[in-house]
Amino acid sequence: MQMSKFKLISQAYEVLSDPKKRDLYDQGGEQAIKEGGLSGGSFSSPMDIFDMFFGGGGRMNRERRGKNVVHQLGVSLEDLYNGITRKLALQKNVICGKCEGYGGKRGAVEKCPVCKGRGMQVLVQQIGPGMVQQIQTVCPECKGQGERINPKDRCDNCNGCKVVREKKIIEVHVDKGMKDGQKIVFHGEGDQEPDLEPGDVIIVLDQKDHSVFQRRGHDLITKMRIQLSEALCGFRKTIETLDNRVLVISSRP
Ligand SMILES: [Zn+2]
Ligand SMILES: [Zn+2]
Repeated sequence: MQMSKFKLISQAYEVLSDPKKRDLYDQGGEQAIKEGGLSGGSFSSPMDIFDMFFGGGGRMNRERRGKNVVHQLGVSLEDLYNGITRKLALQKNVICGKCEGYGGKRGAVEKCPVCKGRGMQVLVQQIGPGMVQQIQTVCPECKGQGERINPKDRCDNCNGCKVVREKKIIEVHVDKGMKDGQKIVFHGEGDQEPDLEPGDVIIVLDQKDHSVFQRRGHDLITKMRIQLSEALCGFRKTIETLDNRVLVISSRP
């Protein structure tokens, strides 16, 4: 990457990632940032930028978003040719309606007594004479959150989990001409979680092989066996299309 470009990007990222600078930029533009003496890299190397793009640094936590869920949907060549609507039943987490995602009474949140708020637990195991092994695991009581809802104040609908499992039917519209491997995206239909933008549900079309036709772009290809006599004397044959029309194929002697 050219150094000047790198600087531009790093400056842009700095503005976006620092609330103070962002406000300054919103009010006065780039000039305000420069005059405010805030420019000039806090990045020590281009790797910082890469970390930011590929999630190495974990600094983009402000933009927390749930995972995307990918499902394959098996379709026939006829389905892709004619179009079809299919219903899919999905299981997903939704914010508990009873406690509105708090997990219990407001103010009932306390520091997790098991891990003392660290979210992690260290297990010490003796693996031989004078040898111990330390294993760090996510605290099972608070699932790494460091805090929990006191059992007596817990929401009885979600058992303090803040979310409940729900079945959801989505209608997948497979349009005429869609391709094998094509994605149909349902924005924000992924698992819900408090303070998190839900991810997407992505349906990937998986076309089963067809006994007669193969698809190549917008064409359908099929092989037809003919006798030598038919090749010499000409023939008339019929072929059924994917939308049940009959085509006549004829060849002259
Ligand atoms: Zn804990
Ligand atoms: Zn609840």
